[in-house]
Amino acid sequence: MRNMMKFLVFAAVISGSTSTFLYAQGTTPLGQRLYEHVKILASDSCAGRGPGSAGIEKAAAYIINHFASLKLTPAGSNGYANPFTLTTGVKTGSKNSISFGVLIERPGVPLDQTKPTTIGWKLGADYQPLGFSETGVASGNIAFVGYGISSSSYDDYAGIDIKGKVVIMLRGLPTWAEKNDAIRALGALRTKTTTAREKGATAVIFVNRNGDSADVLPRFGLDRLGKNSGILAVQARRTPCAKIFPPKGTSLFVAETEIEKTKQPKSFILPNTTINLNVELEFLESTTNNIIGVVAGSDPSLSNEYVVVGAHYDHIGMGDENSLAASSEPMIHFGADDNASGTAGVLELARAFAERPARRSIVFMTFSGEEKGLLGSKHWVSNPTLPLEKIAAMINLDMIGRLKDGKLNIQGTGTSAMWNAVIDSAKAGLPLTVTTTADGFGPSDHSSFTAKNIPVLFYFTGLHGDYHRPSDTYEKINADGEATVLAMVEKSVRTVAEAPTRPEFTKGAEKPATQQSSSIALKVTFGVVPDYGDDPQGLHITGVKPGSPAERGGLQGEDIITAVGATTVKNIYDLMAALGTFKPGDETTVKVIRDSKPLSLSVTFTGK
Ligand SMILES: [Zn+2]
Repeated sequence: MRNMMKFLVFAAVISGSTSTFLYAQGTTPLGQRLYEHVKILASDSCAGRGPGSAGIEKAAAYIINHFASLKLTPAGSNGYANPFTLTTGVKTGSKNSISFGVLIERPGVPLDQTKPTTIGWKLGADYQPLGFSETGVASGNIAFVGYGISSSSYDDYAGIDIKGKVVIMLRGLPTWAEKNDAIRALGALRTKTTTAREKGATAVIFVNRNGDSADVLPRFGLDRLGKNSGILAVQARRTPCAKIFPPKGTSLFVAETEIEKTKQPKSFILPNTTINLNVELEFLESTTNNIIGVVAGSDPSLSNEYVVVGAHYDHIGMGDENSLAASSEPMIHFGADDNASGTAGVLELARAFAERPARRSIVFMTFSGEEKGLLGSKHWVSNPTLPLEKIAAMINLDMIGRLKDGKLNIQGTGTSAMWNAVIDSAKAGLPLTVTTTADGFGPSDHSSFTAKNIPVLFYFTGLHGDYHRPSDTYEKINADGEATVLAMVEKSVRTVAEAPTRPEFTKGAEKPATQQSSSIALKVTFGVVPDYGDDPQGLHITGVKPGSPAERGGLQGEDIITAVGATTVKNIYDLMAALGTFKPGDETTVKVIRDSKPLSLSVTFTGK
């Protein structure tokens, strides 16, 4: 399960418990087999199953062996395997440098006859590129632009021309702005970067606010949601940054203090100072595999239709940018519940259907790249190895290993009128308390299928304190509980696979997002389902939510958004930055590319 999509489309179900609960290793044969699968997939040797790692290949081999032993028909593009490439990491290249030329006044020497003094910053010690920086060079004058906020009530860019200049700005917000939603909506690092780019800056240097950790450089790493911000961006330690402010003019400390006190911007061009900045990032591309096998249907008239039973088997390896671990030291993030548990469920359902097929065919699909942005499932629905129009439904299992007090959440029930009846009959007699969520765009792989108008169900036993931490380990799995969940999943899959007619897709009502990321305070709803892959032209969307401003404005799945209002959109952060400037009722132009042609659409935003 990935967390970034939550603030866009999903209200998370949080059980809130951080207590450790140890269960027996399963008292039924099914429970014991599930436990064994989880134990292997979440072992040291699989090392957290990060895409591109040797560990995930061990997990892939384990799944392939299992499918082969059950004699599933291979349905990938290379046997069971369905390879695709993704960006798994970033490193600094050899060409990174920052130097300043500072004219220092000397008594009796006119400034224009003074030779500039060169100050160099050391990569990794004084500064570091941000993972979302553009690669390239910038030089010339430097402007300090406060917090880099441009809103109607407070504008760091008012009265200063920063076109062609490098800007220095503080991270975060002044304390008085922290409760101001309009300003807070523009305060995220990526939003500020977009603002600077749109104002014409050539590079952004972020510096920490004054305080204990002002001289700590944040962890360098991949920015998973669109790696490129379209502008050079670096983070500097405060001490070297303060040194390039003019000795006789306003210091960084004084500028920050004045903004804090007066609630007014304090932007200016650094006199007598120029910069040469060179950023080079190299991205690591890797190949990873979805693993796909089919149990053929027993009814010749229905076996050309498929029910997909899926789960992602990747996790976040040694702790990537999705880690919630307290320490940034590399550590195995075992991902026992997320999502060795769902993978184990797919393996055991494959066994059940191989032993007793249903009328329709069942496709068992384990995805990679889920944690990097649902990449495996998106790859498959865009490059399907079976006809998409023959997919009757998709059942997704993500985090089903922590059943507690019998509480099970099922999402996507709004995607077909058939689902409530299916769920009622499937849960009958099982010790489960089921809550349902209509929304089919939750933060896991079923979203990719919802976006293709395929009915989905998503089974989930809830978030917990070990989520995305190294402590998500196999012995915490409730194996008997998972077996109970799986009994219900099997019954629901059989109901769909045996029914004379396949479920019809319903466009479900949009659920308001009730959980917001702390750094985002959007006041408006838009309703697009973004694709997190890179598209050089703009932000590719895979769908729009029914009834949303985006749908009413005429946006469609597969559109590439290139601008919202005055903001150029190159990635998801640009979209968030643009949305931060609107309030409910505002109307704006959204530019998209559809079938290679530019289109202008008019969208009226609604509230949350
Ligand atoms: Zn996850």
